[in-house]
Amino acid sequence: MNLRTIIGLEIHVELATKTKLFCGCLNIFGSPPNTNVCPVCLGLPGALPAANKQAVLLLIKSALALNSEISLFSKFDRKNYFYPDMPKNYQISQYDLPLAKGGYLAIKDKKVNLKRIHLEEDTGKSTHLGMIDKSLYTLEDYNRAGVPLMEIVTEPDLNSEEEAYDFLVNLRKILEWIGVSDCKMEEGSLRCDANISLSKDLNLSNKVEIKNMNSFKIVEQALNYEIKRQREILEKGEKVKQETRGWDEKKEITIVLRSKEEAHDYRYFTEPDLPPIKILEEWIDEIKYKIPELPQKRIQRFIEKYNLNEYDAKVLNNSKVMSDFFEDTLNHYFNPKEICNWLMGDIAKYLNSKNLAINQTKFTAFNFSKLLNLINKELISGKIAKNIIEELIESGNDPEILINEKGLGQITDYNELLRAIFQILEENMQILEEYLNGKEKVFSFLVGKIMQKTKGRANPKLVNQLLKEELEKRKKNEN
Ligand SMILES: [Zn+2]
Repeated sequence: MNLRTIIGLEIHVELATKTKLFCGCLNIFGSPPNTNVCPVCLGLPGALPAANKQAVLLLIKSALALNSEISLFSKFDRKNYFYPDMPKNYQISQYDLPLAKGGYLAIKDKKVNLKRIHLEEDTGKSTHLGMIDKSLYTLEDYNRAGVPLMEIVTEPDLNSEEEAYDFLVNLRKILEWIGVSDCKMEEGSLRCDANISLSKDLNLSNKVEIKNMNSFKIVEQALNYEIKRQREILEKGEKVKQETRGWDEKKEITIVLRSKEEAHDYRYFTEPDLPPIKILEEWIDEIKYKIPELPQKRIQRFIEKYNLNEYDAKVLNNSKVMSDFFEDTLNHYFNPKEICNWLMGDIAKYLNSKNLAINQTKFTAFNFSKLLNLINKELISGKIAKNIIEELIESGNDPEILINEKGLGQITDYNELLRAIFQILEENMQILEEYLNGKEKVFSFLVGKIMQKTKGRANPKLVNQLLKEELEKRKKNEN
C-alpha cells in the first residue's frame, strides 16, 4: 500500500533562567528534593504568580533564531487537569495567543515549518516506586514545578524518523549555540513528543501521539516502530485508534497510555492572576543584536574566509565554544588548517576522554598560538608539542616556560648534533658498513636512531643534512 508518513513534533525546552517562571525560587537541576519551592510554585491558596521577564526574553531570542514572528501582545492561560506533580491542578500555559508564531528550521534540503512557540511552566517530577511494605508509593519532587518551559510545535512537515532525528539535532544545536538552554536530555532540559499518522492519497489516518521520549535515539526507534505498527493496521483494512502512547524501553514497543483528549477537555481560560504580556519593539531589536552568528552561516564563512573544507568547517562548528576558540587562536597565529588539525586531533581527543568542553579547561587560545609559533620557528618539534599538549591543557601553563623548564627545546647546535651522530654510527657499525657498500636505504634507520637518542629534540632537517655530509665524508675516505 502506498502510504505517506506524516510527523509533527512538540519539543519542550527548559529555559536557562536564574529563577522559576512565576516565583523567585532557583531554577537549578540536582538539588535535594523539595528544597527549591515556595507558596507560589507549590500552589498554596492565595499565592500569586509574577512573570519572569528573563524567560520571556529567552523565548524571544529562540524565536528570532528560528525565524518566527514575535507577537507584541500575548497572554497566559490556564490548562486545567489533575495530576499529582502539578499542585495547583492547572498549568499556566499559553493557548490562543502564543508569544511567537510561524518560523522554520532547515534540515538538509528541506525547510521544516513551525506552528508556534509558547511559554509555560514545567510540572514537578513523580518517581513511582514498586511495592514497599505491600503498598505502592509515588514520590513527588516539586523543585521542577514552575521552571520556565518553552514549547516549540512544528507543522506536520516531517516524513520519516530520520528527518525527525535531524530536526532535533539541528534544533538542539541552535538553542545551545544561542545559550537559551543547556538542552541536556539526560536532565530533562529537552523533551520531545511526536504526532504521527499515515496517509493514503489525501486520506489521513488518525493521529497517534507518542509522549516522553527522552533521547534522540528513542525518538527514532519509537517513530520507526509506530510507522510499522500503523502500516500493518491500515494494510489489514482496519482503523488506527486516536490515542496517546509511550515508549517501552525494555520491550522496544509503543504502548497505550490513554485515549486522546481534545483541547476542550482542558477547559482553557485566560489566567486571571497575570496581566497580558506586552512586548516592546526595542526589546526585540536589542535581542536581535545579541544573537551570535548562527552555525550554518558560520560554517559557510569558515569555508570561504579560511579556505577550510566543508568537513572541517562543520566539525569545528559542532560547538560554539570550539568555533570561538578557533577564531581566537587565528588572531595570534594565522594558519587555519594547522589550528583546525590540532583542535580536531589531539585536543579533541583529550577533551572527549575527559568529557570536557574547551572552555571548561585552563587552556587559552593565546597559549595555544604560542605553542604553534614555537613549532613554526622550529624551537620545538611537532612530536614534542604532541607530548606536552595534555599537560598544557590541564595546567594552563605558558608553553615557552614549560619547554624551558623541561629542557624540551629543539637541538639546533651543530656540535651537539654531530656528537649524537658519531655516537649512533659507532653503535651501528654494521649498518654503517651496509650504507658505505651502497645500501642507501638504511639512511632513514640511522636518522630514526638519532632522533630516538635525542628524545625527539633534534632538528630533523639538520640531522638529515649533517648525517648525509658525514656519510659522504666517510665514503670518500674509504675509497
Ligand atoms: Zn517558588
